[in-house]
Amino acid sequence: MLPGLNKIASLSAVMILLLQFNCMSRVLLLLPTSTYKTNAYLTAVARLGMEIVVASEEPSTMAPKNPEGLLTLDLTDPEKSASAVVNFAARYPIDAVIPVDEGTAVVAAHVARALGLNQNPVAGAEAAHNKYLMRQALSRAGLPVPRYWQFSLDDDVVGGDDTEQVDLVAGRVGYPCVVKPVFLSTSRGVVRADNRAEFVSAVERIERILAMPHIRRRGGPAARRLLAEEFIPGVEIALEGLLARDRLQVLAIFDKPDPLDGPFFEETIYVTPSRLPDSVQKQAAEASLAAARAMGLVRGPVHAELRINQNGPYVIEVAARAIGGLCSRSLRFGDDLALEELILMHAVGMDTSMIEREKLASGVMMIPIPRSGVLREVNGLAEARAVDSIEDIIISAHIGQQIAPPPEGASYLGFIFSRAGTPGVVEAALREAHGKLQFVIEPGESNAATG
Ligand code: ADP
Ligand code: CA
Ligand code: CA
Repeated sequence: MLPGLNKIASLSAVMILLLQFNCMSRVLLLLPTSTYKTNAYLTAVARLGMEIVVASEEPSTMAPKNPEGLLTLDLTDPEKSASAVVNFAARYPIDAVIPVDEGTAVVAAHVARALGLNQNPVAGAEAAHNKYLMRQALSRAGLPVPRYWQFSLDDDVVGGDDTEQVDLVAGRVGYPCVVKPVFLSTSRGVVRADNRAEFVSAVERIERILAMPHIRRRGGPAARRLLAEEFIPGVEIALEGLLARDRLQVLAIFDKPDPLDGPFFEETIYVTPSRLPDSVQKQAAEASLAAARAMGLVRGPVHAELRINQNGPYVIEVAARAIGGLCSRSLRFGDDLALEELILMHAVGMDTSMIEREKLASGVMMIPIPRSGVLREVNGLAEARAVDSIEDIIISAHIGQQIAPPPEGASYLGFIFSRAGTPGVVEAALREAHGKLQFVIEPGESNAATG
């Protein structure tokens, strides 16, 4: 088909869908504090002709001017948030609730239940937000899971202090293993341990992370619980999809070409389409759907991570939300639809199943933080942007910011985006552009953690 015809065909398909749905849907977007997602969604609703209500924790100075578009919720309290939304929806009906992270996914499930919306149930969202509940759900369903052990930093099983408790667990788990808090994300607090001594120091390090006041507040009792699981060797992929009750629409499978073998697991390059054989990609999609179902997820965006070795795919996690950070910018669908537009269309009940990702290969590099300290200077941006096939580079860390790599930190220096004919060219472009960037980081407090 001529490129022009293709464009018309996919545009009109979306138009017909929008007309059918009369476009007056109002969606509630649950946003914790970070705001980079707001713009993507505001643009998407404007293009689709929907209405949006942005709910976040901080009262907005704009609220008096736009009472039907802004809502302040205590997102740490799902029940309270649900009843506040019910009150709000009596005046301004809500058709769908969209969370942006795992914490708000739990709130979204409570809100959906209170409003009678057909979305993920509370138990499903909770399993997606708690790595131990997730492992339990997968193993109960007979899906492949590494051996795992949960323990609390407060358990006093031997009548002694924490150290004795940790020693006891250290003697039980299989090595190599990965130790992690049950509720955090972005590889925060995720540490590989190859033996007992490493296990004990990993737990101490994680305990210091969990003691940070904002993490403690957010985690509640879960902030004292750790999970140890056997290390699964293999390559890693991420799958972005839209879940409907009986099927998973795979939107993209990303290869993660940098090895993730620990001891820490900072994300870097994502490239799609995957270069794995189609049969393996199909298995990964089936495993993701099976895992999502086992967890009780039924609808909406999922972001799954899997490791693949000679035994097949292992689901590391399934989150009931879309891909994080600014990474969604690497995805484009149909003629020129953003991931957020697809999510909104799906949320209000449109059939998105025939909309596919563009034909070009695409990738993003989450620019890793080389060492902790204070970011003083970023150099080489112009040269990096001039690299062939590089579309954009966004430095999201700001000058003067205290930064730290995982396991303490949970952010990136920024994002590099590339599009090209093949995944190989995309990957090479991302590496070349990254090589041209220099970050001046002044040594700060060691192990200092950032937001
Ligand atoms: P988060 O929610 O912080 O992303 P994950 O459980 O996904 O936590 O762990 C982050 C990364 O750590 C994974 O993407 C993977 O690379 C690595 N990892 C976690 N668990 C295992 C495991 N059991 N075996 C091998 N690698 C693991
Ligand atoms: Ca996660
Ligand atoms: Ca993960």
